[in-house]
Amino acid sequence: MDISDSHIPIPQDTNIPKSLKIAFPENFTVSNLVRWASNTLQQVNGIDFPRLDAEIILSHLLSCKRIDLYLHPDKPVDETIAIRYKDAIQKRTRRVPLQYIKNCANFMSLDFYVDERVLIPRPETELLVEEVIKLSQTISKEHEIVIADIGVGSGNIAVTLAKNIDNARILAIDISSDALAVANINARRYEVQDKITFLCGDTFKPLEGHEFELKIDFIVSNPPYISSGEFDTLQNEVRDYEPYVALVCGQDGLQMFKRIIASATTWLKPGGYVIFEVGNGQAQKVAQLFENTGYFKKANFIEDYQHIQRIVIAKKEETFGQNCH
Ligand code: GLN
Repeated sequence: MDISDSHIPIPQDTNIPKSLKIAFPENFTVSNLVRWASNTLQQVNGIDFPRLDAEIILSHLLSCKRIDLYLHPDKPVDETIAIRYKDAIQKRTRRVPLQYIKNCANFMSLDFYVDERVLIPRPETELLVEEVIKLSQTISKEHEIVIADIGVGSGNIAVTLAKNIDNARILAIDISSDALAVANINARRYEVQDKITFLCGDTFKPLEGHEFELKIDFIVSNPPYISSGEFDTLQNEVRDYEPYVALVCGQDGLQMFKRIIASATTWLKPGGYVIFEVGNGQAQKVAQLFENTGYFKKANFIEDYQHIQRIVIAKKEETFGQNCH
């Protein structure tokens, strides 16, 4: 079948020079499509696992497991799916991240809806969530545990905390209303929307006038921490597709940490915590920022899978803030 005769528009745009283009198969079977896709992706610089990407995308479109592609290589594929596959593979040739192509990213074993409005959740961020869950178990169950998540993005942190902490009340703040729309989709997907208040604005601004001063147990954030200079060195997938505002902040990448720390004591309960994800090489600097305030105990760190100090935990002294009102 010649798909150019199809009524469905055929995506044309691709990164691959015409001379290297590989003909789209005429017979849409699983193995023909995967072979075409992996040969096509192999021609693109920077795609490390072309065959894997080809299989992940097809199994996603067919709603099956990757292993099923091997079990049924000759299975015919519906023309509509084949065309969607062609479109998806061409996106991948332009280095669009797999997660945006699939509109799905896994975080803490949950599937989050994602698109170019939000940062793709990273496995390192799970360390932050796990730490908050652990610390929340040390707090009395009698009251709500109030958690402010600054820079909600897809809602990965807010939603997984809401799901795992029974008495959590999450204040989910983002400067991007687009991001909040995505976070809302995910909160509904996991039925935790009643535990999360979405607020649009810069850091703590949306909390002003809501009587949360000295009421917050945890301030958590995976803020933009890449320096403007580092931006150009990022992988194309990140640099060209993930939201700039979610990635980059200032010349040293420390601006958001400085701003959050400067206001944190206004909002945190005595004995409350600030927990950050930080960039490679930033942990000690961020710890110093906490120390400079004089309001926090010595910060602790959690290393990620590459032994980089990735999570910084600072506990506000119990004695501060009690008589500020
Ligand atoms: N909280 C989201 C995440 O951890 C978004 C972070 C951001 O936009 N910088 O992925």
